[in-house]
Amino acid sequence: MGIEVEKKAGFDTESAKEVVKELRASFVAGKTKTYEWRRTQLTAMLKMMDENEPQIVAALTDDLSKPELESSIYEIAMLKNSCKLALKEMKHWMMPKKAKTSLTSFPSSAEIVSDPLGVVLIISAWNYPFLLSLDPVVGAIAAGNAIVLKPSEISPSTASLLAKLVKKYLDCSCIKVVEGAVPETTALLEQKWDKIMYTGNGRIARIVMAAAAKHLTPVVLELGGKSPVIVDSGINLQVATRRIIAGKWGCNNGQACISPDYIITTKDYALELVDSFKCELERFYGKNPLESKDLSRIVNSNHFARLLKLLDEDKVSSKIVYGGERDETNLKIAPTILLDVPQDSLIMNEEIFGPLLPIIMIDKVEDSFDLINYSGAKPLAAYLFTNNKKLKEKFVEKVSAGGLVVNDTTVHLAEPSLPFGGVGESGMGAYHGKFSFDTFSHKKAVLYRSFAGDAAVRYPPYTAGKLRL
Ligand code: NAD
Repeated sequence: MGIEVEKKAGFDTESAKEVVKELRASFVAGKTKTYEWRRTQLTAMLKMMDENEPQIVAALTDDLSKPELESSIYEIAMLKNSCKLALKEMKHWMMPKKAKTSLTSFPSSAEIVSDPLGVVLIISAWNYPFLLSLDPVVGAIAAGNAIVLKPSEISPSTASLLAKLVKKYLDCSCIKVVEGAVPETTALLEQKWDKIMYTGNGRIARIVMAAAAKHLTPVVLELGGKSPVIVDSGINLQVATRRIIAGKWGCNNGQACISPDYIITTKDYALELVDSFKCELERFYGKNPLESKDLSRIVNSNHFARLLKLLDEDKVSSKIVYGGERDETNLKIAPTILLDVPQDSLIMNEEIFGPLLPIIMIDKVEDSFDLINYSGAKPLAAYLFTNNKKLKEKFVEKVSAGGLVVNDTTVHLAEPSLPFGGVGESGMGAYHGKFSFDTFSHKKAVLYRSFAGDAAVRYPPYTAGKLRL
C-alpha cells in the first residue's frame, strides 16, 4: 500500500478540491465501508507503531523535548489501546441495533444502522501531536469514512513523520495527510466535508465552525479552558499533591488541555498544600527543575513569551511561592506555584497551558462551586479532592464541565467507556472508545413493514367516524 502525502508547498484550493474529489470517489465506491477494510487499516496502524516507536519518540523529543516515558505511555500506548479496542469491538459496533416499534406502525420492525458519514477532515493540535492526530482517525476508520488529517505545523517533526508513516502503512486512496499551516487549512476548510473534527483553541474553532456552516457540515470541537482543582482539607495530602503534579507538570509540563489550570482551597489549608507541593516537586524534579529531563520544554518562543507575560504581571509575580525560574535559550520554565492571585489578573482570565499553577483561597470549600460556575466559560475538566461524600455529590450536581474526576486529575482521558469532550466554550461533541465510532457515524433509522395491517384510517376521505377512532 502507499499514500500520497500532500506537500506543504503549493497546496491551494485546487489541490484541496482534488484531494476531496479522490477521497469521495473511494468512499462512494464503497472501499471504506467494508469490515475488512476497516480491520486492515487499524491492524496496519498498530504495526506502524510497533515498527516505528523510536522514530515517534524522537519526533516528539524534537518538537517538545517530551520525556520518553510520557511519549510512550500518553501518545503511543494510548493510541494502541484505541486501535485494539476498535478491532475487538468494531464488528459489534457496526451491527444494526434492533429498535422497538409501537402501535403506530404495527405490524413492523425497526433497526438503527450506523452509517459512515463520508469524507471527514481532522485538524489536530501540537501538544499531543501523535495521539491527537491519530486517535480521531481510529474512530473515523472504525466508522468507515475516508479521511484527511491535517496535523499542527507547530509540531513539524511529528507532522512530517505522520505524513511519512501514514503514506507507508495506510490506504492512500482513502486516507491522506495534508501538512501545512493557515493557508493549507483554509484551503481545506473551503471544501465540503461530511464532518470536521478540530482540536485546538476557541479562537480558531470559531473560524472552523464558520467555514463548516457554509456547507452545513457538523463539527466536533475539542477545545480547552481553565480546568480547576478543588482541594478540601482532611485528605491524604501527599497522594493528592502527587496526583495534581502528575496531571500538571507530568502532562507535557502543563501543556495539556485537561491539566489543572488553578487550585481552589480554603485559607486554612492553603499553606499546608503549598508545603506539600514544595516537598513533592523537589522530590520529582530536583533542586534545579530547569535541568530536569522529566519536564517538556515550552513548545516555542511565542508560547514562552505568552507564559512570561502571565507570570510577570506585577500583581502576579509578587505571589510566587515556589519556582518562577526560566531559561529562555532552552524554552524552559520551572514548575511555579502562586498563592492568592487576584481574580482580575491575566493569569486568572485565560487558559494557562503551561507550568504555572495559581492557588485561589476561599473561606469555605463549598464556595468553590459558585466560583467555577460564575467564572464565565465552562471548563473542559474539573477536579475535586475530598473524603466528604456530600461534597462529592454537590460537585457532580453543581459543576458543569466536560468531565469530572474525584480524587485524581486527568485520568478520565484514559477511560474509553467515558466520552471525552467539552461543554460550552470547552467544546462540543465527544470521542474515545465507542463514542469515537458514534461521532463519525450517522444513526440511520430504518423501519420495515409488510403489506399487512393496512389501516384505512390514514386514508381520505377523513370522515367524522375516523376522527373518533
Ligand atoms: P495549534 O496552534 O496547533 O492549532 C490547532 C490547529 O488549528 C492546527 O492544525 C493549526 O494549523 C490550525 N489553525 C491554526 N490557525 C488556523 C486558521 N487561521 N484557520 C484554520 N486552522 C488554523 O493548537 P492550539 O490551538 O495552540 O492548541 C492549544 C489549545 O487546544 C488549547 O486551548 C488546548 O486546551 C486545546 N486542546 C484541546 C484538546 C482537547 O482534546 N479538548 C487537546 C489538545 C489541545
